[in-house]
Amino acid sequence: MTKFIAIASGKGGTGKTTTAINLATAFNSLGKDVILLDANFTTPHVAIHLGLPEVPTTVHDALMGNAHITEATYLHPTGLKVIPGGIDGLLNKEKKRNLSSLLLGLYGKTELVILDAAAGIGAEAMDAIKASDETIVVANSDVSSLTDAVRTIKAAEEVGSVVPGIVLNKINKTSLGLSLHDIESIVGKRIIAVIPEDRKIRKSLSLNHPVVYTHPSSSSSKQFKNLAKMLID
Ligand code: ADP
Ligand code: MG
Repeated sequence: MTKFIAIASGKGGTGKTTTAINLATAFNSLGKDVILLDANFTTPHVAIHLGLPEVPTTVHDALMGNAHITEATYLHPTGLKVIPGGIDGLLNKEKKRNLSSLLLGLYGKTELVILDAAAGIGAEAMDAIKASDETIVVANSDVSSLTDAVRTIKAAEEVGSVVPGIVLNKINKTSLGLSLHDIESIVGKRIIAVIPEDRKIRKSLSLNHPVVYTHPSSSSSKQFKNLAKMLID
């Protein structure tokens, strides 16, 4: 059986791609068979984060009906399996297949598929959320981010995706005006990880590797690994 987990958010820039990449890498390091799929079709960033700019076949080729989804799977040097988007996104291209039908092609081929979704609850984000068994919502601790997260949680639950909780990202000493308990009350969900703001994340980005791989003992890496363990148990 294959479990599909979407990484979503209310707005852009909260840390979805960072969370998707590092959670997938953490699962991988725990011995799970996992594929990271870039489901942000308009502005795909997984390939950029992981330094895979010019692969011959991408999820976009599969969406256009020109390739099977498994042909777009690459092994990143860290050992992570990745299905990247094309650098140009869907520019001047017409989708012939939908995401759910592509994902059927991965069913039974791996234990976990992590989908890096588009921001918000527009059609593209909802495609990924709808196709996923679970949706993890990444938020920052400011009130607007938390408010947007509430909307995303509601939208996910309405389409039958289970929301195990939210990931609070980019947390530092000054960013937490509210207590974790207050935040849980606002969003109506458990906080399943608190990822600190970590300069090592930018460093890992410049190395085109997940921080969990380049700096396994950094503050953010420890939390990504705890999250993976918690989700497996
Ligand atoms: P999204 O995919 O939600 O748009 P990204 O994962 O691309 O967001 O993150 C946006 C920016 O914030 C990136 O430059 C990323 O390196 C940085 N970033 C994400 N999480 C952290 C963190 N915990 N600490 C420091 N920088 C972070
Ligand atoms: Mg992103």
